[in-house]
Amino acid sequence: MAVSMFAISSLRGPLLVAFTRQPPASIAIAACKQYSCVRVPHSASNTRRGISSGFWMSTRQQLLCLGGGLGLGIRAQSAQQRQLGRCMPRLLSRAGMHSAAAATPPHEMIYFRSSTGPSIEATVTDAGVWGGHTLVIFLQAHAEGVEGPLELGESGAAVDGELEGAIQAFIEAEEFDAKEGTAKAMPVFGKGIKRVVLVGLGNKEAADLDWRLAGASAAKLMKPMRGGSVGLACIDGDRIQPLVEGLLLGLHSDHRFRGTKTPDKLKARKGPESVELIGGSLSPGATAADVEKAKAIADGVIFARELVNGAPNIVTPPNLARAAEDLATQLGLTAEILDEAQCEELGMGSFLAVGRASNLPSKLIHLTYSPEGGASRKVGIVGKGLTFDSGGYNLKAGAGSMIEMMKMDMGGSAAALGAAAAIARLRPKDVEVHFIVATCENMISGNPGALRPGDIITAMDGTTIEVNNTDAEGRLTLADALLYCQGKGVTEVVDIATLTGACMVALGQGISGMWSNSDDLAGRLEEASKRAGEKLWRMPLEDSYFEGLKSDFADMKNTGPRFGGAITAALFLQKFVHKETKWAHLDIAGTAWAEKPKGVHPAAGGTGEMVRTLTALVQS
Ligand SMILES: [Zn+2]
Repeated sequence: MAVSMFAISSLRGPLLVAFTRQPPASIAIAACKQYSCVRVPHSASNTRRGISSGFWMSTRQQLLCLGGGLGLGIRAQSAQQRQLGRCMPRLLSRAGMHSAAAATPPHEMIYFRSSTGPSIEATVTDAGVWGGHTLVIFLQAHAEGVEGPLELGESGAAVDGELEGAIQAFIEAEEFDAKEGTAKAMPVFGKGIKRVVLVGLGNKEAADLDWRLAGASAAKLMKPMRGGSVGLACIDGDRIQPLVEGLLLGLHSDHRFRGTKTPDKLKARKGPESVELIGGSLSPGATAADVEKAKAIADGVIFARELVNGAPNIVTPPNLARAAEDLATQLGLTAEILDEAQCEELGMGSFLAVGRASNLPSKLIHLTYSPEGGASRKVGIVGKGLTFDSGGYNLKAGAGSMIEMMKMDMGGSAAALGAAAAIARLRPKDVEVHFIVATCENMISGNPGALRPGDIITAMDGTTIEVNNTDAEGRLTLADALLYCQGKGVTEVVDIATLTGACMVALGQGISGMWSNSDDLAGRLEEASKRAGEKLWRMPLEDSYFEGLKSDFADMKNTGPRFGGAITAALFLQKFVHKETKWAHLDIAGTAWAEKPKGVHPAAGGTGEMVRTLTALVQS
């Protein structure tokens, strides 16, 4: 880097850094005149903290940085210069300029993509006469203690007849018992079709059958196919949407970041070219509508999964904001991205404190879905978006700290943006939805303003928070995001976050925790989660536990005692919810990630959990 000396009036470059004792100093005023700058307001306390907090933005997108209150008169000049050197990458990154330390090029790999899966349509015919490649038959298991051949159903029996009893013989030989989530493939020789896949539905009442899981179980055996057609036998209207959702979720694989050492044939998309839903009484029009709904939802879930899978050097706060903006452009949502200066102007001291140690700028993402014809209902969905959580000075250290997993700490934002993708395509009537993500990175540095344990910070509504643990940072970002969201006139708001290890301890990795101040909203969420095939369990908002969040100095602390940690986290958030707002908090710390293939998730990684429930809630 070359350093030169100029008179202010001769400067032409895109960036001017000036050192002043107290802004606005004469040099700043001169520079502002030269550059037609407007000052970005910042609080008085920040001007004392050092160079990185005060800067001036030109109306021409050129940036002028000023060391607010650096105190040149007090320190030796060399110390000043060292401090400036350390601050430069941060200053540049905040200006949207790349320096070596701050570079995160945009990454289109994490942008929303519509499904590239097989074509899916209705074929009004009987399974017995269908002539494609692989025919899938769904079978119910016997009740406990019942013996004998499985019931193949009308179409299964017709196919078995065509194949001269081969299916029943295969079931017997393989001891296939049609347990839920199982599937078996049977090759067929010398006939039109090449393969029969049997999928187990378990022994359940018809209304309780898990068609999503059935679709995903079938997908497992369809995945290695290189083209060809698949027929799903004996399908009626109610099953189509969950079945197709499960199928698409089961067929998904994420090879975006495989490099040159992975053979191309492993990276190539496989699976069938077409899927036909076979039934004698199907209505192609209604089927197509159900398939479209299933695709919208599955694409939303897959978008969320891929955001969670994205490495933290790729899914950075600026890139997450870019992905959200791109989503809005593709699907007709409005997007507003607030930078740090704008958040500061709104007083979001709690949110901004979390990202201060990062060289990457924090961003507040706000997408809005507005239906045609206006809306009587306004819903807010707020997602936690920590693109990486080191823990801060309360560093995640040692075995079991899961620091290497902390790219998943934006799982809540992924669910919010996945739901935005689904809702934008489903276009529900009479409901406006605001999707808010306050995204940042929780890091460690000596940057002035970087969060220390013990710091007292101030949220948008003036609440002061003593930070007794920098690793309980998600709630600090959510506090301002919830306040901002309620400022948009929503009457109900759901926040979703990978918030506490305590919730994982309580409910394991298959059930998300829910806290709510409204029986009505909690009931609708429970109902939505049932329809969506995701598991929620309502937990108590035990007021007396707030005792553990009391601070000797500020309005509250951010962390309570070890026991009941998921509950005190919810109680903390509740302090930022207005009395009249219906609010629910979903803790997905356990469910946002699958360590191995599970249910409708064909691989380890992000699950996109709660995209389906949030979408169903908005549609209800
Ligand atoms: Zn944390």
